Formats: sequence, structure tokens, C-alpha cells
Amino acid sequence: MTGTLRIGDFSPDDRHVHACWRLDNTSVMYFRDPRRFGGLWTYPSPEALAERWHALGPDALAVGCDDLYARLKGSARAIKAALLDQGVIAGVGNIYADESLHAAGIHPRRMAGKLTHAECGRLADAIRSVLGHAITRGGSTFRDYVDAQGNPGTAQAYHMVYGRAGQACFGCRRPLQHAVIGQRQTVWCPACQPETPPH
Ligand SMILES: [Zn+2]
Repeated sequence: MTGTLRIGDFSPDDRHVHACWRLDNTSVMYFRDPRRFGGLWTYPSPEALAERWHALGPDALAVGCDDLYARLKGSARAIKAALLDQGVIAGVGNIYADESLHAAGIHPRRMAGKLTHAECGRLADAIRSVLGHAITRGGSTFRDYVDAQGNPGTAQAYHMVYGRAGQACFGCRRPLQHAVIGQRQTVWCPACQPETPPH
């Protein structure tokens, strides 16, 4: 949730730098994490690393309708909670789960296993689109997130729901609702993301 990998120099007095590496091109990469929610893991072999990756679902940037539908099938969890499970798909965190569900018009409390094939298609499209746009904007910076060159992201200026609880939905102007779903603060539009979808 926190911590940044940076390229460049750092002060030897900076007690928030926990590890550094000298790269082949002689530049230095370092891991800085003042809040200590981040972590580093080492693996004894490429095989051990591959095994770790194997526990992750498909990359969210490449997830397709059929894959998402198959992975959610039979799940009684809320779709918000399922999206945050990195074993279902890898790469969606709290911000982009809310943004993707809003873009797809899906209520975050809908049961994951009950989403239709068409809804999974809309959701997979939304996930790829939301993440793709966020990446081109350098990510979302609320506290201390910066990229490897130390630049903050600008994607937060384009959020439709995340961080906007109580404000008007950009789509329908109704106030956005919020609640804890999947153990995380969740924001959605009650009109654009109906809890009971029309059939
Ligand atoms: Zn709305």
C-alpha cells in the first residue's frame, strides 16, 4: 500500500530508505517507505518466484470477459471484495476497484458469482480502461506516492467516485454513497450502479 522504488541519490541520513541496489549502469535504485506498509521479499530461485507468481490471478491489464466470468463463477462474495483479491485478478486495488465498478455500472455489493457474462465483459473492459488511463497519468497521488523519478501522479484529478463520497455523480448528479465493503471504504453511485439491476 505504501513505499516507493526510486532511481537516484538519497541522503545517508534518510532513515526511511530500507534497501538499495547499485544497478549495472551504476545508478542506484532504493526502496523508501516512511509508513512501513510496504515490503520486500527474496526468493532462493527463479522457480520459487514463479511459484509465488502462480498464486496470482491474471494481470488486470490483460483480463478478458471469459476469464473474469470463469474466475467469479460460484463466488458468493461481493464483487468489490473479489476484485481486491489478487488471486482472482492481479493489480486492482481499492481506488481502481471503485472506479472500474462505476465505469461498468455495477454495484459493489452485487454477488460476484451472479454477474452475467455481459456484465463481466463491461467490467473487464472498465478495468483495463481505468488502469490504462491511470498509468498514462502516472498513477494517483493522495499522500506520498511518486514514480521512480520522484514525480507524483495526476490520475486523482480524474476519479469519478473514489474520494468523492457525498459529492454529485458526474453521470447523474445524485450524491455518491459510501460504506465499508470488502473491509475497505467504498464509494458508488446508487443510480448509475443499482443494487438490483434491471433485467
Ligand atoms: Zn450516477
